[in-house]
Amino acid sequence: MEFRRHDRPFVIAGPCSAETREQVLETAKGLKDLNVDLLRAGVWKPRTRPGKFEGIGEEAIAWLKEAGNLIGKPVTVEVASAAHVELALKGGVDVLWIGARTTVNPFMVQEIADALKGTDVPVLVKNPVNPDVELWIGAIERFQSVGLTKLGAIHRGFSTFQKSPFRNSPNWNIPIELKRRMPDVPIICDPSHICGSRDLLGEVAQKAIDLNMDGLMLETHRDPSQAWSDAEQQVTPKELAAILSELVWRNPNSLDLEVKAKLEELRATIDGFDRDILDLLIERLEVSRKIGEYKKDHNITILQHQRWNEILHDREAYVKGKQLSMRFLHKFLEAIHEESIQQQTDVMNARKAEDA
Ligand code: PEP
Ligand code: MN
Repeated sequence: MEFRRHDRPFVIAGPCSAETREQVLETAKGLKDLNVDLLRAGVWKPRTRPGKFEGIGEEAIAWLKEAGNLIGKPVTVEVASAAHVELALKGGVDVLWIGARTTVNPFMVQEIADALKGTDVPVLVKNPVNPDVELWIGAIERFQSVGLTKLGAIHRGFSTFQKSPFRNSPNWNIPIELKRRMPDVPIICDPSHICGSRDLLGEVAQKAIDLNMDGLMLETHRDPSQAWSDAEQQVTPKELAAILSELVWRNPNSLDLEVKAKLEELRATIDGFDRDILDLLIERLEVSRKIGEYKKDHNITILQHQRWNEILHDREAYVKGKQLSMRFLHKFLEAIHEESIQQQTDVMNARKAEDA
């Protein structure tokens, strides 16, 4: 199985959890005529707190398989141990996925990889709950090392303590970095677990496609509000159809020579601007180092809170009403300030060594 199509996103849909045979079959029937490539349902559910529904277990694999056969689609479940792998393969599950809470644990990932050695079962690896691209890459490598070749990644967002419109912060730079480091591994975005609610699903799905991701995993339930897990984020098959039909599929490249030429021209302009920005930054840091010398000579601290506040307020006022977000401005100024302090510290310490 290749988790990648060239005309539209590869789509995985189905309930968060298999609850009853009827629920799985009915949900699947609703998906029959949609562009769905793989039918999902969790049968072992990792729950954050104990005492909640933790999945039906092995029995539900047969329901899912029956549903897949009924609508002619392959099926996938989450596995979190070698025992799960054995039961899933015995039940004829076509694709396995590794959950976010498992990817964080190299012991478990290795145990699952070892259980799959000698097969070429397709495996999808969700990102770890914490924003650590190395851990995500490491998990994929463990499967590659036992000889699996049909691998994909699922971007489901990252836990955060900060208030956010998302249940799991997307941190788009992390899947982008994964793509840069492992360009051959398809990436499927899971807007359901990123959003945690239905309203932002379409927007996040579109963003994933705009970022050249290969597919989408969207939790679908015949009656979402009654779901035994993740009730707020699931959609009906009809709602899924609406989300998919509104998506604009974009190609990573255009074959049209005129479009290509225009893009190249604009990119050349951007390359020029980037160099200008870098040259200016280097000049700016030169001045910072001079200030460092001066502060050293006059015994003044490097960091002066009042000056830093003034810089922030002045630059905020300067960009107000222009096409630059305050969020970006702060990130940008903080990065410059950090480098500036670092260079001033280097100047002071070098001088200290000289003076001694
Ligand atoms: C799920 O897909 O239902 C699930 C438990 O996902 P995650 O591992 O991303 O939390
Ligand atoms: Mn879920």
